[in-house]
Amino acid sequence: MTRQAITLIGGGLVGALLAQLLARRGFRVEMFEKRPDPRRAGFTGGRSINLALAERGLQALRTAGLADDVLQRAVMMRGRMVHPREGSSGLQRYGVDDSEVIWSVSRGSLNMLLLDAAEAAGVNMHFGQSLLAADLDARQIVLADEHGTQRRHEAAVLVGADGAGSALRAAMNDYQPLGIRVEPLGHGYKELEIPPATGADRFAIEPHALHIWPRGGYMCIALPNTEGSFTVTLFLPAHGAHPSFDTLPDAAAAAAFFREDFPDLLPQIPRFAEDYDGHPVGSLSTLYLDRWHIDGRALLIGDAAHAIVPFHGQGMNCGFEDTVVLADLLAEAGRDTADAFAEFQRIRQPNANAIAAMALENYIEMRDSVADPRYLAKRELGARLAERAPTHFMARYRMVTFTHLPYAYAYERGRAQDQLLEQLLRGTLGANDVQLDAAVKTLQATLPPLPQLR
Ligand code: FAD
Repeated sequence: MTRQAITLIGGGLVGALLAQLLARRGFRVEMFEKRPDPRRAGFTGGRSINLALAERGLQALRTAGLADDVLQRAVMMRGRMVHPREGSSGLQRYGVDDSEVIWSVSRGSLNMLLLDAAEAAGVNMHFGQSLLAADLDARQIVLADEHGTQRRHEAAVLVGADGAGSALRAAMNDYQPLGIRVEPLGHGYKELEIPPATGADRFAIEPHALHIWPRGGYMCIALPNTEGSFTVTLFLPAHGAHPSFDTLPDAAAAAAFFREDFPDLLPQIPRFAEDYDGHPVGSLSTLYLDRWHIDGRALLIGDAAHAIVPFHGQGMNCGFEDTVVLADLLAEAGRDTADAFAEFQRIRQPNANAIAAMALENYIEMRDSVADPRYLAKRELGARLAERAPTHFMARYRMVTFTHLPYAYAYERGRAQDQLLEQLLRGTLGANDVQLDAAVKTLQATLPPLPQLR
């Protein structure tokens, strides 16, 4: 059955996956992407930038029939390898075994795989076509190619997957205010690289881990790439007192700072000066909108609707979860487009708000608390309760990363569990001081059982 035509703006991670899911459900999809086709032109930047793929994203890829292909190009990460300034590093495993792991995938190769799949499903893809304007009354859009040549295109139903700087969002907002709020984090990031090692072992440091160098108000992380390199990301205040990107304007200043603060990491980055001076400082913000759609004419999805900070590794995962919900709603018999868009916002917006909040909280946890004894005591007691009473306790990180429980549920439940841990640990020196039988009874009396997992 061929359904209506949908015009999709943006062929990034979310746009390409959504295009495939819609085409497989019988929609005629026209996709317009600003950049040239990365499968021909090479992925912009040429650097290895990677992302953590977790269960929610994987589930969407399973729906699209692409999970196995993606995992073949991914590196398993079993836990966090924490590198303190002094002392030895240690692995904090995410789960008890390899069924609870996350995956490092290359943004470029994932995007290209998704574009191949969308094309194979019959999506009509137009590259080098940038959305300039949308006339929502005439149901037309204006596109420009790389030479600036403009053309108009009929677009009765528009979906914007054009990322955090969405042009469709701006056009929709001009037509009818969407209630846009952008909250800058005040911290920026810069990418550096640990190259592959020479010799039999391709990886210079443990490959199956997400590495963190927590330093209080800032941190570095590193994720592995299949070819043996690691993408290192330095997160630091953008402005203000030392250290910030203001006080580390160039590689010379940054190298001196790394020698003091990241002495084990610096020698692993032989092209430090080129990387530091050559790569821009990225900015980080959270985007909130009151409205994600204009009746049945236009809808925003993925980062265009809810860009978040990257500290839970969930932006893409959340966007992928969006795509399945939207494709199912649009394909539902008897539901018109306006109704599907409204229902999409009703279901997804509370979840987007919850993961936005948890991602902000996770920055503090990653850069600070993973080395903090109080945090470790809560983690330890939480792990004991989860083992003794799995029907009543599950770490919030696990709910977010390894289940399909709605983000909003994970946020609320996590808050209630955290309060209970605080209460149980009050007046103690650590988890060993807590009488576990009594703690389990308190837990079961305080909180309802967790939902059954699918
Ligand atoms: P984008 O990936 O931004 O794609 C938008 C597409 O639209 C692009 O291809 C762009 O060229 C195109 N476009 C833009 N404007 C126009 C226009 N006018 N006309 C036509 N096309 C246009 N998420 C995770 O799940 N795990 C992680 O580990 C993770 N790490 C991250 C690390 C960093 C440093 C950052 C910044 C983000 C990270 N994220 C992570 C978040 C993730 O990158 C985003 O959530 C994800 O890329 C969103 O996908 P998208 O398709 O909505 O937007």
